[in-house]
Amino acid sequence: MTWRATILTLFPEMFPGPLGVSLAGKALASGLWELEARDIRASATDRHRSVDDTPAGGGPGMVLRADILAAAIDAASIAPDRPRLLMSPRGRPLTQSRVVELAAGPGPLIVCGRFEGIDQRVIDARGLEEVSVGDYVLSGGEIAAMALCDACVRLLPGVMGKEASGAEESFSEGLLEYPQYTRPQVFEGRGIPEILTSGDHAKVAAWRRAESEALTRFRRPDLWEAKGQQKPPKDTTRG
Ligand code: SAH
Repeated sequence: MTWRATILTLFPEMFPGPLGVSLAGKALASGLWELEARDIRASATDRHRSVDDTPAGGGPGMVLRADILAAAIDAASIAPDRPRLLMSPRGRPLTQSRVVELAAGPGPLIVCGRFEGIDQRVIDARGLEEVSVGDYVLSGGEIAAMALCDACVRLLPGVMGKEASGAEESFSEGLLEYPQYTRPQVFEGRGIPEILTSGDHAKVAAWRRAESEALTRFRRPDLWEAKGQQKPPKDTTRG
């Protein structure tokens, strides 16, 4: 079965957008995954096709109505085994391991919020899993949904050139990736670390591992600790 993302949005014209070019776009064109962007407004019932209303209890902005959004979710009639996600700054921050899980499944339904967000009752009633792309606030869920889809799609079988390119990169082992180099041999007076041009694969692997560990310890002590290693030393790593 083909991996499929079903997006519920007030701006379906934003899709495929960046997902229509490069790696994800080629994969989309060749049928390695499917994208369906559905207009929430199509489920509006009144003459003005309104989808939002003022927040109960007062305050600024507008809130997406529970009844309209629930109708839009139901109209998408997705299989019960598909994850139902809501892009939300209150959600659990997206990680590579969740991306791997999502990529291995049938593909999610993704609700994109707008305005002040969506009525809590539809989150509860439709069992939406809130997913965040970071501790900052976007104006809508679409760009967040694109980030999630992009991260999943590159892991689908046949999408990346070499099977290996997904295995050895940032977060794959709870570590950040080592620095990469390519030609020219010298750039503005800066060479390439000698080991990388030595042809000694074992030494290259050891160097990369050490660099990955040093970067992770210094830049992401949270990841390093989660990996069950000791605390970062103060000053032994690169800046
Ligand atoms: N008032 C809300 C923010 C609403 S932003 C709050 O303070 O929590 C409007 C929409 O953008 C949200 O409903 C959500 O779908 C999306 N969004 C904003 N920031 C996001 C983030 N960091 N991750 C995922 N989605 C986000």
